[in-house]
Amino acid sequence: MTPQIMINILDKKFVPLISREVIENRIAAIASEIEKDYQNRCPLFIVVLNGAFLFASELVKRIPLSCEITFIKLASYNKTQSTGSVREIIGLNDDIAGRDIIIIEDIVDTGLTMAQLLSQINDLEPASVAIASLLHKPDALQTEVDIRYTGFNIENKFVVGYGLDYDGIGRNLDAIYVLA
Ligand code: 5GP
Repeated sequence: MTPQIMINILDKKFVPLISREVIENRIAAIASEIEKDYQNRCPLFIVVLNGAFLFASELVKRIPLSCEITFIKLASYNKTQSTGSVREIIGLNDDIAGRDIIIIEDIVDTGLTMAQLLSQINDLEPASVAIASLLHKPDALQTEVDIRYTGFNIENKFVVGYGLDYDGIGRNLDAIYVLA
């Protein structure tokens, strides 16, 4: 059972939501699914930094396939149009045309970030694109996003740990905590 130990990060209190053991077991199950689904293919994993770094490292080391791994960041900049903020992909230097892509993300919340990322990646004409997200908040979704591999569906509450931060702090926590 997850111990109910409250932790403080900056001005906020968080309580345990998903333990390290449960996270790692789920990631192992996702790794097996990916291994099965990508037999005789050489997928290119695109890891979305910073939040997905722990999930990605735990996942890819359990997938005994020939594969490539690359890392991107999404930079926000405000457009002076009513479309609001558009995020630019930084670091996508690989030629992804014709490749089988697996995007590794920490969390899909509204889905807006992932929808933008998907549309930019699809413009580069990959053979296929699948999403693996450690967390998903179905109640927060504002646009349809097809997540092939989901770690956990969670309530629409702010979480930290296992790569996710609160104002830069908490990424190194080995479990997931929710705002108390
Ligand atoms: P979306 O565009 O789906 O609303 O948000 C995606 C990004 O928002 C995630 O990649 C993550 O960086 C951030 N985010 C969304 N929900 C949470 C949360 O509960 N905790 C943290 N730490 N970040 C979140």
